[in-house]
Amino acid sequence: MRITADLERCVGAGQCVLTEPAVFDQNDDDGTVIVRRATADDDETIRRVREAVHLCPSQALTLTEPGPPR
Ligand code: SF4
Repeated sequence: MRITADLERCVGAGQCVLTEPAVFDQNDDDGTVIVRRATADDDETIRRVREAVHLCPSQALTLTEPGPPR
């Protein structure tokens, strides 16, 4: 699973960091999200990232399946 964040949408609410601090961090200057890991492979991390995507108030986070191999 691939984790991406749209910094144009992020309002720095920090829900993602509270939900999964192993994946998300916040910029010290403006509070916008920093994605520390671009992928999640284990079920527990994926579950927490899904929760963060759900909780984010600005829909700035996306969790996507990798595309088919070429
Ligand atoms: S929860 Fe959403 S709006 Fe808040 S810091 Fe994380 S990505 Fe940004």
